[in-house]
Amino acid sequence: MTPVPVRRPPLPILATIDWPEGVVTPEPKTAAALAAAAERLATGQLVAIPTETVYGLAANAMDPDAVAQIFQAKGRPATNPLIVHVSDTDMARSLSSQWPDIAERAARAFWPGPLTLVVPKAQSVPDIVTANGHTVALRCPGLTVSRRLIELAKCPIAAPSANRSEAVSPTTAHHVLEGLGHRVGMILDGGPCEHGLESTVLDCTVDPPTILRPGPISAQQLAEALGVQILSSKEDRVEQGRERGEALRSPGSQPRHYAPRTRLTLARDATMLIPKLLEAGHRVGWLSRSPHTAAVVALAASPNLIVTPMPQDPAAYARSLYATLHALDQRGLDRLVVDAVPADDDWAAIHDRLERAAT
Ligand code: AMP
Ligand code: MG
Repeated sequence: MTPVPVRRPPLPILATIDWPEGVVTPEPKTAAALAAAAERLATGQLVAIPTETVYGLAANAMDPDAVAQIFQAKGRPATNPLIVHVSDTDMARSLSSQWPDIAERAARAFWPGPLTLVVPKAQSVPDIVTANGHTVALRCPGLTVSRRLIELAKCPIAAPSANRSEAVSPTTAHHVLEGLGHRVGMILDGGPCEHGLESTVLDCTVDPPTILRPGPISAQQLAEALGVQILSSKEDRVEQGRERGEALRSPGSQPRHYAPRTRLTLARDATMLIPKLLEAGHRVGWLSRSPHTAAVVALAASPNLIVTPMPQDPAAYARSLYATLHALDQRGLDRLVVDAVPADDDWAAIHDRLERAAT
């Protein structure tokens, strides 16, 4: 008897693109892939795209049916609004009903780049994008190909991270393939992301401007460039909300997010915790910031422990964090242990993601 073939959905087209900074015309292969991606976007389909932060799952932001597919592919709750990507500040202005002075100054200082600005939304922005809210989150991505794609598609692009809701964000095209598989028709492979962490989200509709999500651009950098106070810590936000008698709407900042499947613990002193886990028979992965100390070297002899050295520099740490979590998540481990990171401003975004991964 001949076996009945199992009908499986087709895998996405994976196209490598390369558009170095400063180059005017890309290679024909890149140009063709971008044209095909733009055509898909313009006709209401999804495309996974590289940016300098993480890979995004993109759709025409002005097409509610296309945007609905993003929510479906990710399994994302409809209450979690999307960031809209623009090719320049003019496009951003056209999507806002009022463009605050602070947004103008922040855009001049940090765009194109990993900063998202929350401003009052124009009526033309579909409600599904903003989860029915009156504000819209806008970002002009730093990666050249992302902006060129928006220009080619001739529309702003809604693009959350290209992963299933609550999972670790993708920083390579293969992470997208692993996480979304057939749920997206085309993936543009632009290599590993430069920052590896999601953008800083700054609410420009409140005074003082408030960071809703820490990211590659720190509170201190914003305060220095804009010459105003920036509210940043969770405590600031809670305090401000209390003063205004409201819960500050910071959708997408639910405690559990960005989490690997393997249970993750943030440890102040991992050399105390890990022996206990090993004794209990667990197979453990350890993201260590001091892999060469005697205690760590001794533990690393255990066959049930994988030690992954993590960089000392916050930018390098951010770049490798998600890729490390993706890799260790594939190893069938019982537990992940991550050395706690410093409490200062440079590490705020990493600290935020690790805390949420550990929830
Ligand atoms: P994600 O696309 O999942 O990486 O996250 C989008 C982030 O943007 C969330 O953390 C939201 O807090 C934020 N965001 C998007 N739109 C808005 C908005 N209109 N107001 C406030 N925050 C927003
Ligand atoms: Mg995300």
